[in-house]
Amino acid sequence: MSTPSQEQARPPLVEVRDLVKHFPIREGIVIQRQVGAVQAVDGVSFDVLEGETLGLVGESGCGKSTTARLITRLLDPTSGSIRYRGTDIATMSRRQLKPLRREMQMIFQDPYSSLNPRKTVGTIIGEPFVIHGVEKDDKRRKARVQGLMETVGLNPEHYNRLPHEFSGGQRQRIGVARAIALEPKLIVADEPVSALDVSIQAQVLNLLRDLQREMGLTIIFIAHDLSVVRHMCDRVAVMYLGKVVELATSEQLYSNPQHPYTGALLSAVPVPDPILAAAKTRQVLTGDVPSPTNPPRACRFHTRCPKAVAGTCDVTEPLLEPKERGGEAACHFPLSSSEVAEAVPTAR
Ligand code: SF4
Repeated sequence: MSTPSQEQARPPLVEVRDLVKHFPIREGIVIQRQVGAVQAVDGVSFDVLEGETLGLVGESGCGKSTTARLITRLLDPTSGSIRYRGTDIATMSRRQLKPLRREMQMIFQDPYSSLNPRKTVGTIIGEPFVIHGVEKDDKRRKARVQGLMETVGLNPEHYNRLPHEFSGGQRQRIGVARAIALEPKLIVADEPVSALDVSIQAQVLNLLRDLQREMGLTIIFIAHDLSVVRHMCDRVAVMYLGKVVELATSEQLYSNPQHPYTGALLSAVPVPDPILAAAKTRQVLTGDVPSPTNPPRACRFHTRCPKAVAGTCDVTEPLLEPKERGGEAACHFPLSSSEVAEAVPTAR
């Protein structure tokens, strides 16, 4: 991880502005009328700086995975811009995108379902070379694939094995090898360790961190669990119901959160120290996440927020803006120092 001053000096690799993705809901068998829309991502803006790891965090359905798929253009945005190295790729055609696909790769949550069970690991890892016509000579391709297997900690002699012959952690390493095959600039890792045992999670996270350092990768790391992101990310964007509600360096976010939603997420993270754990007040969020087809107006968190003020939070939408204690948050009444101390006693 790098320091905030290093981050400020870095240029953005990706600039996302007012990104929107609404999935239409249609009714009718013959004439399908649009009767509504799932507002999966609704006006999201942030930069991803070169060489950093940016965490996108939030509960299931907050729009983090959709945002990732929009950035890699696996999905088409409804509106907004995605500038990649200065060029807006939001409206590029599949053909225009093809050369850029080499530079942006995804690692998926479930390593098993993202690997074709009938193909050997050698074929799976070598696929990007074939698709992009990079290494046409079979022998040389095999050598490169085996080199990649070694890089990610797999035995190159297992080149001809099928995915089911590997453990969950090894399968995720296969996914990582495939993702780095073409030496991309950007990796989007969508909950890459959520399906793995805790003991294996750290190994895969360490691998990603080592690769980032060695290859100068920029990583967007998606997780629903703030504890996983902590040691992995330089900065973290917290999402709630299709919006970014807080964006800060990891250090700032974990020691001094501003948004009540971030405070609630952090208060739920287990603390190993029993004294600190006893000092911590868990902020239990009441109610379920509202439906993204009909989200609450103004601040979308107001229906669950312990600090909501009627007449303000349900009337005026808070904008994501810099706050006095650092970082950016979208909240009219950010957490006070004493509220932070209750939610995150490790900060004191
Ligand atoms: Fe809570 Fe109001 Fe802040 Fe929204 S704007 S997070 S409802 S205090």
